[in-house]
Amino acid sequence: MSIYSSIVHVALQTPSHSGVGDLLSYASEHPLPPGTLVRVPLGTREVLGVVWDADEAPGELPDGATLRPVAGVLDGVAPLDLPWRRLVAFAARYYQRALGEVALAALPPQLRDLRPEQLARRLRRPVKGAADTSDTIENIALTAEQESARVQIAAAKGPFLLFGSTGSGKTEVYLRCAQEMLEADPTAQALVMVPEINLTPQLEERFVGRFAPRFGPGAVVSLHSGMTNPQRLKSWLAAHSGSARIVLGTRMAVFASLPGLKLIVVDEEHDPSYKQQEGARYSARDLAIWRGREQGAKVILGSATPSLESWYASRPPAADDPEGGRYLRLHMPSRIGAGALARVRRVDMNQQPRRTVFSAPLLQAITERVARGEQSMVLLNRRGYAPVLHCVDCGWKSDCPHCSAHQVFHKTDRTLRCHHCGYTVRVPFHCPTCGSPDIHPMGKGTEQLEEQLGALLSEVLRPDRTPARIARIDADTTKAKGALEAQLAQVHSGEVDVLVGTQMIAKGHDFRRITLVAAVQPDGALFSSDFRAAERLFALLMQAAGRAGRDAAYMAAQGTQCEMWVQSFHPKHAVYEALRTHDYPAFAAQQLKEREEAAMPPFAYQALVRADARTQDVAQRFLTAVTAAAHAAGLPGLDVVTLFPPVPLTIQRVANVERAQMLMESSSRAALQRFLAAWQPVLQTTRSQPEHKGLIRWLVDVDPLAI
Ligand code: ADP
Ligand code: ZN
Ligand code: ZN
Repeated sequence: MSIYSSIVHVALQTPSHSGVGDLLSYASEHPLPPGTLVRVPLGTREVLGVVWDADEAPGELPDGATLRPVAGVLDGVAPLDLPWRRLVAFAARYYQRALGEVALAALPPQLRDLRPEQLARRLRRPVKGAADTSDTIENIALTAEQESARVQIAAAKGPFLLFGSTGSGKTEVYLRCAQEMLEADPTAQALVMVPEINLTPQLEERFVGRFAPRFGPGAVVSLHSGMTNPQRLKSWLAAHSGSARIVLGTRMAVFASLPGLKLIVVDEEHDPSYKQQEGARYSARDLAIWRGREQGAKVILGSATPSLESWYASRPPAADDPEGGRYLRLHMPSRIGAGALARVRRVDMNQQPRRTVFSAPLLQAITERVARGEQSMVLLNRRGYAPVLHCVDCGWKSDCPHCSAHQVFHKTDRTLRCHHCGYTVRVPFHCPTCGSPDIHPMGKGTEQLEEQLGALLSEVLRPDRTPARIARIDADTTKAKGALEAQLAQVHSGEVDVLVGTQMIAKGHDFRRITLVAAVQPDGALFSSDFRAAERLFALLMQAAGRAGRDAAYMAAQGTQCEMWVQSFHPKHAVYEALRTHDYPAFAAQQLKEREEAAMPPFAYQALVRADARTQDVAQRFLTAVTAAAHAAGLPGLDVVTLFPPVPLTIQRVANVERAQMLMESSSRAALQRFLAAWQPVLQTTRSQPEHKGLIRWLVDVDPLAI
């Protein structure tokens, strides 16, 4: 006999591939509504779970049932609502992961560790003041282009693609749309996503400055992985309870519980960081579209260089395409204050002396700007001093012993470091193979650029007669907490004349005094095997160009023009031609034509299965076996899904793990989904067969970004 009145089915994080089903059942004394957070026993531990559904089991349990009881209920937190649960369930299904894994990953980590009493104590802490309803704050006047976008967003259902040049005032449009939405409905909430944490501090100030006076000091909260666990929990609870009106976050914020969600903004929607690269490999942008539709929230995607997927989805109706795309495209071509976009200067490196890093005309241009007190930015997407060290006598190269990659030479701390597995050694004085002292760096990284520029500009003076100052920002200089903020502040305050860095400096920052941006070696991406490389390079260069000349008044006062320099061995390449005219639509049209002819995204849908093993042979054998099994079983969807043969990854071995993958492609997303769902159990069973013993893991990546 049992006193339990109901059986609840709980989503929880089970060890992956443990064979435990998606939901586990527990007995509860009281009926618990779906979405309730509970603590339940799992083996010898007690873990957090989310009640997914319940059976009324009046009276007693079936004979011999060994249901364990729920250990505790986090009743200080309202149950997660149906839209949130549906989002999680959809993401798990679509990206081929366990429901419990996605549900738990979507919750703030600290929630997992708190017992109900601890949480109750935390919830009792006072929340910051309530909304202040002074409605006398002036709005800044929108430009005609901004106003037109605002009106269309207010009038139509969306989703919207806000296609606006860098500095056209997209952020102002987001702010205004959010404000109107929140003023019209006191329970409404807005979610604003940005690609990376390093962009958030500046944006956060802007949002707090705008919304705290209107909706109270606690109205804006952030959600990103740079926060401490207690901060994240606090933001999460504020969003979940509705006290936060605006959540500003990175991709993880797409899973925030927002009962009043009415608006989702995805800023820089083309940015690859919206795609999660481990666990459930979700696209926060794509989930935002789904969530907006399900929860009745408007969705605005914004970019100066939209992804080709979003660009295609927002194509206007045409004679041979009367429907057009699903999104509404809104165009803001002009920069605020009639500022001009950077003039693009291409340097043909075939005409320069061999091994030139900074061509003479570029160096001259930087020198002149330093002398006038203007700032320049030099972009190189490779950190360290040199990508490899080599021996002149025997040809030895600084290969990582654990990866199929070179160890990068870092001069500052005299190390060779593998950027894939982290393996680090001291720089040797002699060649480890032949003992020769004649070992040299090959190629350039940001450290070397900084050093060379220092030497080249050593005689150059600023207007105040002090020497030019050079700074570098990349993943190495910003490891310490607060380092990036401090370094950016130096740039903003004008302490730096030339900023050298990786793509970290190219995106989002609202630099006011940068008038020249240079990409010194951008060619690498032109001939990559990844079909998205050109698209990414174009976006990066356009973003980088957008850092120059952002303050029209400053430009006018200086009497200067902003410039984007590109040093290239292929200066006439289509990517640089389109860059020269800032013509994203032309670039997109050309790329889409190629994609359509080759039946590639957005004209086809893709997924990858990756296998990791001790040997490449085992990894590929697994992929071959699951392919054969799929055909043997005649799985649904297979007639319209193409399975390509397994291949090693470009970087085949990382940390002594061999990696292989195979691509699946279909013109039908639904068919690909049907196939993947049916295939999942085949992958599971094949994996446990003895002949695949050396397999470490396999994973599925739906809509992969890099192939
Ligand atoms: P984007 O997000 O498109 O790069 P921002 O919204 O950051 O552009 O705007 C660029 C700059 O112009 C910012 O400094 C912003 O404060 C300013 N700005 C935006 N809209 C207006 C406006 N309507 N009037 C005056 N300044 C504006
Ligand atoms: Zn040697
Ligand atoms: Zn390595």
